[in-house]
Amino acid sequence: QYILAIETSCDETAVAIVKNGRDLLSNVVASQIESHKRFGGVVPEIASRHHIEQITIVLEEALQKAGVTMEEIDAIAVTEGPGLVGALLIGVNAAKAIAYAHQKPLVGVHHIAGHIYANRLEKEFSFPLLSLVVSGGHTELIVMKEHGDFQVIGETRDDAAGEAYDKVAKALDLPYPGGPYIDRLAAEGEATIDFPRAWLEEGSYDFSFSGLKTAVMNTLHNARQKGKTLKKEDIAASFQESVIDVLVTKTYRAAREYEVKQLIVAGGVAANKGLRAGLKEQFAGEAIDVLIPPLSLCTDNAAMIAAAGSVAFEQGHRAGLDLNANPSLSLERYAKRSKR
Ligand code: ATP
Ligand code: FE
Ligand code: MG
Repeated sequence: QYILAIETSCDETAVAIVKNGRDLLSNVVASQIESHKRFGGVVPEIASRHHIEQITIVLEEALQKAGVTMEEIDAIAVTEGPGLVGALLIGVNAAKAIAYAHQKPLVGVHHIAGHIYANRLEKEFSFPLLSLVVSGGHTELIVMKEHGDFQVIGETRDDAAGEAYDKVAKALDLPYPGGPYIDRLAAEGEATIDFPRAWLEEGSYDFSFSGLKTAVMNTLHNARQKGKTLKKEDIAASFQESVIDVLVTKTYRAAREYEVKQLIVAGGVAANKGLRAGLKEQFAGEAIDVLIPPLSLCTDNAAMIAAAGSVAFEQGHRAGLDLNANPSLSLERYAKRSKR
């Protein structure tokens, strides 16, 4: 079974081909970061324009690298949401055009299901499993009892983890996206500032990062007013320690409560060295298998969409040529729909 997948939900134009759900044949990603950097964030109109320019080039390259022809492809998978509507539309329309022209089945995939399934390219899933999704737009704990079944047990009430990283980075005059820069600085600094940790109500698996972000801003502001200079490295280290403390503690508690066999870490922030180390340490000695994808599969790519699309295809999930981009598609609604 060969799946060709397209992902254009944000600022990377990506096409990948995966064989039998787990065997990655090609994974082409055209990043637009350079075009958005000077604006300090993703500009939706620019993203759409880039996707249009890149999509056929990336598609050709993915087929060529995989050594597969369109005739051999069994289905076209595409990210239908969530994401930027104009960006999603380019991928969805490209997928529909290919599906129609080559008479192939079409499968719509949820972007976050993709981030989770990126891990299946590395190792087979064992259920029940817990996913910690930490990306630019999401911070969620998701329990899966079987393929295609997603139960969101906790989510952020305000900023996503990646968003908090990017905002704090901006306040520290670091380039966009700031997550990797903070990660690097944090390794050189010391967590000398005691920033707050939002535990929320007892037993809650929800997250909140806006209070922490504000605390960092206030600390910077007060230091500036007093003419004091704080080391960026120490601010980064203190901020990162607060984020990781909450993420690791809640994840561990959920993994125990739901008696999961595997923990999956997904999304761009899964690239964070501090988080990786923190989870490894917390879960050491537990009979829970911790999967963290290689860096290239943490951030947006189409391999993950192919991996999730492969399972959805096998479960009989099909989209029609009326498939539309859904910028706010919820994971639980998507899960219900794909179960038959
Ligand atoms: P979503 O998947 O929720 O739609 P997105 O696709 O924009 O959002 P990703 O591409 O998965 O998110 O991840 C990008 C985010 O990951 C950015 O916020 C970036 O700063 C963050 N990030 C990347 N590397 C690191 C790192 N080493 N440490 C912390 N954050 C990081
Ligand atoms: Fe993403
Ligand atoms: Mg991205």
